[in-house]
Amino acid sequence: MGTLSKTTCLQCGHTFVDRSGGGRLFHQFRCENCGESKFVSHKELGEAYDRYAYKSIQDLFEELQNEPNFEIEREHEKDYEKDYEKDVENIVGRCKCGGRYLLHAPSRCPKCHSTQLERDDSDTIFYD
Ligand SMILES: [Zn+2]
Ligand SMILES: [Zn+2]
Repeated sequence: MGTLSKTTCLQCGHTFVDRSGGGRLFHQFRCENCGESKFVSHKELGEAYDRYAYKSIQDLFEELQNEPNFEIEREHEKDYEKDYEKDVENIVGRCKCGGRYLLHAPSRCPKCHSTQLERDDSDTIFYD
């Protein structure tokens, strides 16, 4: 599930549409330094994705026993995601700024790269 939300930078006042979350066919990575997104299809990731997807499904089953809480899940970056990010770095390469692409790097303002963003959730569009 991906979303498009109207976002305002609290640092410089720039407004932009932030795209976040991957879809069924691709993953979104963000540069840890500048926040630039890169979308990579699962197909391109090949075996690395298959391993990740398998573990994600195991996780999902566990979660179904509990109340799902996606915010907490995001905060606790799982080990297999770290492995995945390492694999992906080999496949996807690095951002032109030299930063690594990570699965859960925060959104950043495209102008000043601040992470102090205000998202207008009333204006969120879901896609995929
Ligand atoms: Zn970058
Ligand atoms: Zn800004």
